[in-house]
Amino acid sequence: MPATSKACASCRYQRKRCDGGCQYADLFPASRFDEFQNAQRLFGVNNIHNIVNSVEPELRKQAAESILVEGNIRKGDPVHGCLGVTRRLKWEIDFCSKQLEDVNRRLSVLRQWDRESQSQRQGFNGAVVELPPLPPSYFSNGAGSVGSFYGQIRSNPVSLDVI
Ligand SMILES: [Zn+2]
Repeated sequence: MPATSKACASCRYQRKRCDGGCQYADLFPASRFDEFQNAQRLFGVNNIHNIVNSVEPELRKQAAESILVEGNIRKGDPVHGCLGVTRRLKWEIDFCSKQLEDVNRRLSVLRQWDRESQSQRQGFNGAVVELPPLPPSYFSNGAGSVGSFYGQIRSNPVSLDVI
């Protein structure tokens, strides 16, 4: 294995020796050499170093990741780059917002329809379901079961008034 294969992506690209104290080793590991090349085509090595060094040390990893991602995106879309991704995501957000708006509008109509039909059912049921209470005499004289009581009502509806 050649000695340069252990060098970080930045040092490998510059054909420099990369020792353990290299500040770019964590930011651009050797495993991401291809991505670093993409970023280098977009920014140039000196600009990459300047960008990374211009941010606070705790943010350098994020800055390096952003540089690598931008390089990859530019390779995938040389004309629009990140702007193409941004536009596509914006279009998707707008599309989903319109769909959500439409679904909420339909849901509102269905809820209104459900409320109206529920109130109609309640009014209809209130008129029909009212049954008179069972007469106490029915249970005390041992004349029969509840089934036969309703059988009596069906066969002679007038008896309801009498009860
Ligand atoms: Zn290095």
